Amino acid sequence: MATIRLLRGDITEQSVDAVVNAANSSLLGGGGVDGAIHRRGGPEILAECRALRASRYREGLPTGRAVATTAGRLPARWVIHTVGPVWSPAEDRSGQLASCYRESLRVARELGARTVAFPAVSTGAYGWPLDDGARIALRTVREETQGPGKDEAFEEIRFVLFDQRAHDAFSAAL
Ligand code: ADP
Repeated sequence: MATIRLLRGDITEQSVDAVVNAANSSLLGGGGVDGAIHRRGGPEILAECRALRASRYREGLPTGRAVATTAGRLPARWVIHTVGPVWSPAEDRSGQLASCYRESLRVARELGARTVAFPAVSTGAYGWPLDDGARIALRTVREETQGPGKDEAFEEIRFVLFDQRAHDAFSAAL
C-alpha cells in the first residue's frame, strides 16, 4: 500500500520518479511551481511542452488533464503537467481539481513511476482555498492508491508543501 507523506519543501528538489507540475493550459510556463520547475529543470522540459502543443494539444491541455515530459535537470525522471481549475465562488469546480490528481496518477501508473510528488494544485495563483484544496487532494489520492486492488502501483505519494500554512492545512486534512 502506498505511503502518503506530507513534507514542507520545494518540489523541484524532490528525488522521486515523477514530480507533478501545477501548469496552465498553455504548457509554456508560468509562475509559482511552474516557473520553478522550468527554471531548475532547464530548457528540455519546455521543448517537450512545445512539441505537445504542436501535436496532441494544439488548443492547450484541458483543465483536469495531465501529460508527462522529461524532468530535464531535476532529480526526477518525469514531470507530469496538470492544469488545475481557477477557484470560482459561483461554480463548483472540485470535480476538476480531483481530476488533476486522478489523471496525474493515471499517467504516473502508465509510466511505471512508483514515487510521485504533488504540489497543492490550484492553491496559489488560481486561488483555491487551502483547506478545501487539501481535502480534495488527500481524498482523491487515497481513493486512487489505498483502495482494494490499488495498492501495487505506488510506493510513496508525497505532498510537497511550500509553507507552514499549506503544511498545516494538509496535516489537518490527513
Ligand atoms: P496554481 O496556479 O495551480 O494555483 P501555483 O504554482 O501558483 O499553482 O501554486 C500552487 C501551490 O504551490 C501554492 O500553494 C504555492 O504556495 C505552492 N508552491 C509555489 N512554489 C512551489 C515550489 N517550488 N514547491 C512546492 N510548492 C510550491
